Amino acid sequence: MNVLVTGGMGYIGSHTCIQMIEAGMTPVIFDNLYNSKETVLQRIEDVSGSKPEFVNGDVRNKALLIETMKRFNIESVIHFAGLKAVGESVAKPLEYYDNNVNGTLVLVDAMREAGVKSIIFSSSATVYGDPATVPITESFPTSATNPYGHSKLMVEECLTDFQKANPDWSIVLLRYFNPVGSHPTGKLGEDPQGIPNNLMPFVSQVAVGRREFLSVFGSDYPTKDGTGVRDYIHVVDLADGHVVALDKIGKKSGLHIYNLGTGNGYSVLDMVKAFEVASGKRIPYKLVERRPGDIAECWADPSKAQKDLGWKAKRTLEDMTRDSWLWQSNNPDGYPE
Ligand code: NAD
Ligand code: UDP
Repeated sequence: MNVLVTGGMGYIGSHTCIQMIEAGMTPVIFDNLYNSKETVLQRIEDVSGSKPEFVNGDVRNKALLIETMKRFNIESVIHFAGLKAVGESVAKPLEYYDNNVNGTLVLVDAMREAGVKSIIFSSSATVYGDPATVPITESFPTSATNPYGHSKLMVEECLTDFQKANPDWSIVLLRYFNPVGSHPTGKLGEDPQGIPNNLMPFVSQVAVGRREFLSVFGSDYPTKDGTGVRDYIHVVDLADGHVVALDKIGKKSGLHIYNLGTGNGYSVLDMVKAFEVASGKRIPYKLVERRPGDIAECWADPSKAQKDLGWKAKRTLEDMTRDSWLWQSNNPDGYPE
């Protein structure tokens, strides 16, 4: 099956391409390299033995999308392309709405013209806002507190309305919890530009000596040790979730919504300790103020994906921290240009 993977050069997209190739699918990557490097393509080949076709393009370029879908006989789309930094989205809301919302509308319009009727969209647990309780099921109310979160919610709503009007389409909304880790070969991983916003890339950069210490945002949350609790999921488990979704429901018309998480919550200090064990390095940290907009705890009820798709996250916290460290220690400055 030929699948257009927008944002396939990025962190989650590149790992998904590898799992797709291993499952016998053919990814065609469409990415403008805004937040990724062309070296990723070579790394995908090194790991999987196959170099995907790559089109350097922007998802707001409808003509190029249509041409690409026709040229490669695309049957389905996995849509990762977008901007993802919450803080930046507050400063640059128009860029976020244009890239994430408009980009998706242009993509779906292009799919309609090319006759492709199956899409998997990268949504996020951020659409649950500050949940009243945990674990979170797919039927929880949705809300957002920043432009990034709004953009994900808006796309979910647009796709839901579009599917109602076009019942023969298959639209899958995958709500990711906190993706971490890297490919177990250490050849692919997360390579943030500038100062990392997310916990695990920051911790890895402290371990490798690129940053002096970690600031732990908040130690007075109503959690077991006062620090925030999240559902960290190995990026390869997440990638497998896409392969299974494509295989099981990529051809089944309807709107399908799934949480992709493990169902386990770990605190910031749990993650620091686990990373220290995996790396053999000490991670100096300072307890500082809460980060505005953060919530105390967030973890998934992943049972719907297990029941419908037979998918369950298999990798442990030890796997996540070991693989993160392998990537970071082998590639201390990320991917080469
Ligand atoms: P990433 O930045 O590593 O990858 C995104 C890729 O999309 C990059 O390669 C970038 O160059 C490309 N891109 C951006 N705008 C584009 C455009 N207009 N046209 C073509 N390509 C474009 O991000 P990621 O962590 O792999 O995330 C993938 C998706 O998953 C995003 O939609 C993100 O919002 C969503 N998501 C990520 C997380 C997370 O913690 N990483 C959590 C929940 C949801
Ligand atoms: N966090 C932290 N220091 C950092 C980055 C994150 O203490 O430098 C905390 C954050 O407050 C949250 C958890 O780590 O409790 C996960 O944050 P991340 O930004 O990785 O993901 P989020 O769940 O906020 O999207």
